[in-house]
Amino acid sequence: MLIKCPECGKDVSDKAPACIHCGFPLNNLHKKNICLVDGTEYDMTEFVDSYMKLTDAEKRELYEKTLSRYNGNTEVTSHNTTQVIRKINEQFNWWYHSKENDKGYLAEKFTLDYIDHNFQYFEFNTADIQIHPKQFVVQNADQRR
Ligand SMILES: [Zn+2]
Repeated sequence: MLIKCPECGKDVSDKAPACIHCGFPLNNLHKKNICLVDGTEYDMTEFVDSYMKLTDAEKRELYEKTLSRYNGNTEVTSHNTTQVIRKINEQFNWWYHSKENDKGYLAEKFTLDYIDHNFQYFEFNTADIQIHPKQFVVQNADQRR
């Protein structure tokens, strides 16, 4: 099967170890449902499977509302989409607890990034993620518990 090289965008075989056009290593693309989070590889199969069971409308809702929440808005998500995000909360122990111990935004950002990467292998470094200045939890953590 031909895939698009993520580096140069040209067609390459998905069996090639590296792109024949630009040399970009393609080995990691074969790692199905694996992500590198803070230097450790995690199996994301449970999350991907639960996401794939959503309807198209639920997938849209999940992305749009997660993006809105990450940008500091209050959004109530349906039961099914909430259960998908909870897989990330649980897997990485990223929850909204309090102003001092707030990791919920990481679950939102990871989910958005993983969907943007079309569930291909990618690197996620929590130290690089900026909490949005208008982050909902900063003002509203107490009401949300
Ligand atoms: Zn290439």
